[in-house]
Amino acid sequence: MKYIDEFRNGEVARGLAKAIAAEVEPGRAYRLMEFCGGHTHAISRYGLEDLLPDGIRMIHGPGCPVCVLPIGRIDAALWLAAQPGVTLCSYGDMLRVPGSERRSLLKAKAAGADIRMVQSTQDALALAQKRPDRQVVFFAIGFETTTPPSAVALKQAQALGLANFSMFSNHVLTPPAIAHILDSDETVKLDGFVGPAHVSTVIGSRPYEGAAAHYNKPVVIAGFEPLDVLQAVLMLVRQVNQGRAEVENEFARAVTRDGNLKAQALVAEVFELRPWFEWRGLGRVADSALAIRPEFAAFDAERRWPVPDISVADNPACDCGAILRGLKRPVECRLFGTVCTPDNPMGSCMVSAEGACAAHWTYGRFREGETR
Ligand code: SF4
Repeated sequence: MKYIDEFRNGEVARGLAKAIAAEVEPGRAYRLMEFCGGHTHAISRYGLEDLLPDGIRMIHGPGCPVCVLPIGRIDAALWLAAQPGVTLCSYGDMLRVPGSERRSLLKAKAAGADIRMVQSTQDALALAQKRPDRQVVFFAIGFETTTPPSAVALKQAQALGLANFSMFSNHVLTPPAIAHILDSDETVKLDGFVGPAHVSTVIGSRPYEGAAAHYNKPVVIAGFEPLDVLQAVLMLVRQVNQGRAEVENEFARAVTRDGNLKAQALVAEVFELRPWFEWRGLGRVADSALAIRPEFAAFDAERRWPVPDISVADNPACDCGAILRGLKRPVECRLFGTVCTPDNPMGSCMVSAEGACAAHWTYGRFREGETR
């Protein structure tokens, strides 16, 4: 299959692994964060760490949208779902993330709340058109990849005059999170980033240039196939060895420097920056999320209802926060694989396939004795 089989070729992977091993300087540590959950998933699925020399450590980043949403926002969604006449719609993974006291949208649905799993914003819009007697609220999450469809839905709702549709926006932004990780004393120290694939198709490679130069850390944007990730590691090792801190684009088959200008314009028309947003693990991050612009206020769930703005501490037994800061690995959580599994997730990192804990558990590589 074009662009799939070629990027999963074992022989080429072994060749790339050899090239990486040849370029790694003995005794030097290369701490590389793959920001995106898609890369975390690929690394676990294809066992890429087994191909890398000891000096390279892949560190999972906070680029899984389900994982980074804090408990307070899940509680807010539960509050919305409990309002009279409301039908709350969201993606399947979001329904399973535990909120306070291990409540979840799925449990609220079982208890009688009208909560629907949808595949897209269009499903939620269609439901609002079909059920004028219900207030349909779309619980929107995601990075820059899923924001354009949300913008389209809000424009459609406005054009249709859909008075019973609104959105609870939890869209977050990648570059401010990368800058925050590099700036914070409470996150892991890094030598470079594997930059997101899908996000970068929308925003392009340019938005990473400021952080790369300011913090003197290389970024290589990479696709989600195993050879993409290995090639990106090779490019990062070369940059580190040569003392360069540039933004390079391994995923040139889909990403340009400027990205998708049409999608960016659409998002800018409908959304505006929040002064700050709370991320699980990272805490409050300035200018890191999007709110709905006043022009679309009629479709903003946070203006339609007095949605509680609460900050809730994480479950102290769950190490998701430390994992999202790159300070721990899933196997270092004492609940991993015992109390906490994908069937019974205790934290958000065990819910989505892109979550570090779920990826480690699903592909079972820790069972062979994880060393890194
Ligand atoms: S294994 Fe479960 S409890 Fe532990 S950090 Fe991951 S999600 Fe949290």
